[in-house]
Amino acid sequence: MDKFYNIDDINNEYDVVILGAGPAGCTAGLYTARDELSTLILESKFPGGHLAITDCIENYPGTGEAISGADLAMKFATQAIGAGASIRNGNIVKVHVDGDDRSVTLDNGKVIKFKAIIIATGTKPKLLGAENEEDFIGKGISFCATCDANFYKNKDIVVVGGGNSAVEESIYLTKFVNSVTLVHRRDEFRATNSIITKAKANPKIKMLLSSAITKFSGDKKVSSVTIKDLKTNEERELPIDGVFLFVGWIPNTTLLEGIIDLDQDKFVVANKSTKTDVDGIYVAGDVRKKELRQVVTAASDGAVAAKFAEHYISSLK
Ligand SMILES: Cc1cc2nc3c(=O)[nH]c(=O)nc-3n(C[C@H](O)[C@H](O)[C@H](O)COP(=O)(O)OP(=O)(O)OC[C@H]3O[C@@H](n4cnc5c(N)ncnc54)[C@H](O)[C@@H]3O)c2cc1C
Repeated sequence: MDKFYNIDDINNEYDVVILGAGPAGCTAGLYTARDELSTLILESKFPGGHLAITDCIENYPGTGEAISGADLAMKFATQAIGAGASIRNGNIVKVHVDGDDRSVTLDNGKVIKFKAIIIATGTKPKLLGAENEEDFIGKGISFCATCDANFYKNKDIVVVGGGNSAVEESIYLTKFVNSVTLVHRRDEFRATNSIITKAKANPKIKMLLSSAITKFSGDKKVSSVTIKDLKTNEERELPIDGVFLFVGWIPNTTLLEGIIDLDQDKFVVANKSTKTDVDGIYVAGDVRKKELRQVVTAASDGAVAAKFAEHYISSLK
């Protein structure tokens, strides 16, 4: 990883350029490099993606036991490098695809040509805009029930959101926690009726409608939230052990608008072979329109995208 910030030694052309060095991008790079394709993975922040900011991963098969997100992130990155991929810190300002004329442009002006590109840029969570929110991400604020439920056994938590995810995940979380306070800004949920009925029948779930969190408080971790009643404007502090936000995800696809097909929420549309609507452009991981966003599905997408990128490049010869 010592070359991560050394952007000067990279070539002007690669068989495959991969955007994003999270689990999807690193796995794609591992596979394309092993297929002897010259491979550059460009990462705008730090290798590992969401993994690098996740305390502990308990459900990535093969690790045997819980592993720190940072350690697993490093393993993904170093394995891709070991196979021959280069991973560099690069802020891409433009993706250009016009027939065979294909390149990415970095913010330092460097243009790198490619034959195939794999988009693995992931997502960022939508936030509430509450006070101290960003300080507590990963420290009591979570975005993934499948990932983090286990850390809240017999605890009191808050879930925020009004759609199917928020209500379904609240029901799921009751298998672990002592209580769920489900907070939603509107006076009714957007979730389907059958799910709402199930949640209402669950004695562990308390619903707070027309309410919003305005502040997160705590020392090293969140220990309370301030909840505002949006009808009366009254605020009160609620002691809690954790908060799950399910108010949506924003895919990192701004660069791709007008180039490939995106759905209404701007996720990349692809078939199960990860091919987009443009030949030679593949998508892997959370940025893809799909049902389950996890490390294992990101890695799986990365392997599939790499295979099809290899087929595509072979077909050019
Ligand atoms: C707090 C939290 C806890 C989680 N816990 C678990 C868990 O326990 N188990 C589990 O299986 N899953 C967990 N997940 C989900 C898991 O982390 C994701 O599904 C997985 O990281 C997705 O991998 P990815 O490579 O698609 O995207 P990401 O991990 O998001 O990586 C995408 C990378 O692309 C980079 N990038 C974005 N735009 C650009 C650009 N224009 N150019 C270059 N690089 C770019 C980003 O900086 C990022 O590094 C958790 C997620 C969060 C947020």
